[in-house]
Amino acid sequence: MSDALYQSLIMDRTKNPRHAGRPAEFLAHAHGDNPMCGDRIDVFVTPDGIRHDTKGCAIITASADLMADAAAGKSADEIKQLRASFESVVTTGRPDDSLGDLNALAGVSEFRSRIRCATLPWSALSDALDQTNE
Ligand code: ZN
Repeated sequence: MSDALYQSLIMDRTKNPRHAGRPAEFLAHAHGDNPMCGDRIDVFVTPDGIRHDTKGCAIITASADLMADAAAGKSADEIKQLRASFESVVTTGRPDDSLGDLNALAGVSEFRSRIRCATLPWSALSDALDQTNE
């Protein structure tokens, strides 16, 4: 995919997130803050998938929404693996074929201060999943 296509994918997810909102019922929830950018996110694990309530920049909003797609139907172990692969992509800038649309955020690697924007949804999701195991 070209950079231009990645850009439009991120803009689309920012304007029309598919998984945004606070569900009335959920199995687990976690909050994340990124003071550097002013981002705030709440991630919810529900029987139907992942939902997120994100207030922040385009990167965290797109990252959260793409994460909800990628994590759908996956086990906690598979999500852990996805998170590791995704963090590698956004820190090295090298796309990973197994990650699909998540590669749209590879360009973040050029802006060190924005990497946290891309990874915060995943750390919040991990925190939420840890609760489900307790
Ligand atoms: Zn941000």
